Amino acid sequence: MRLLMIAPPGAGKGTQGSRIAAHFGIPHIATGDLLRSHVLRGTDLGRAVRDCLDRGRLVPDPIVLEMARRALRAAKIAGTGYVLDGYPRTPAQAWAAYQVAAELGMTAEVALHLRVDDDEVVRRLLARAATEHRADDTEPVIRRRLALYHEVTKPVLEWYAERGILLAINGMRTIDEVTADAIKNLETFDAMPAVTHARIRSPLPRPCGV
Ligand code: ADP
Repeated sequence: MRLLMIAPPGAGKGTQGSRIAAHFGIPHIATGDLLRSHVLRGTDLGRAVRDCLDRGRLVPDPIVLEMARRALRAAKIAGTGYVLDGYPRTPAQAWAAYQVAAELGMTAEVALHLRVDDDEVVRRLLARAATEHRADDTEPVIRRRLALYHEVTKPVLEWYAERGILLAINGMRTIDEVTADAIKNLETFDAMPAVTHARIRSPLPRPCGV
């Protein structure tokens, strides 16, 4: 299973991504977690991206592309699929990810979209702020992350829909209900007829605006 997770902040990408990865026995690669780990360890990369993370801005494309490239290469060597969580987040990233994955013969089979509305996202992230103290979980930064999601990430969904690999599920239920629904749908999606898979493999036009 080669899976991308696309959802607003606070929709449960991390939680569902790791459960789905465990179910299918594949790595869960979360760009946000990787970046936060660099910040915590005080690496050069961590120092370079800290300010972007704290302000809820996107870190520069070459940094996340390199992370994704390494993770996809590692999955290829290990002979597994992957759950890529938090990348791509813009049409340009989607196009770059597609090219890198195509070179490796590892293009995504499914883009899973967890649908959660804005009020619920803000409520969840403020609740998380009270316990986890993530630097980007303050109300103004949450609003900025959400605005960025609507502006630059949502258009990516249309591109995956055109490609025939978009799977949208309702993320506004209990954690267990969402996991069960995602896994049930992914198992069916995985068993799609060969004709659909052939369409997935066919070369794609660049997304609009890239
Ligand atoms: P959320 O989706 O809840 O905002 P993440 O943990 O996925 O949380 O991401 C946290 C932060 O990491 C983002 O606000 C951004 O600064 C950075 N980041 C993660 N993935 C990317 C990406 N693909 N491109 C640019 N920045 C990213």
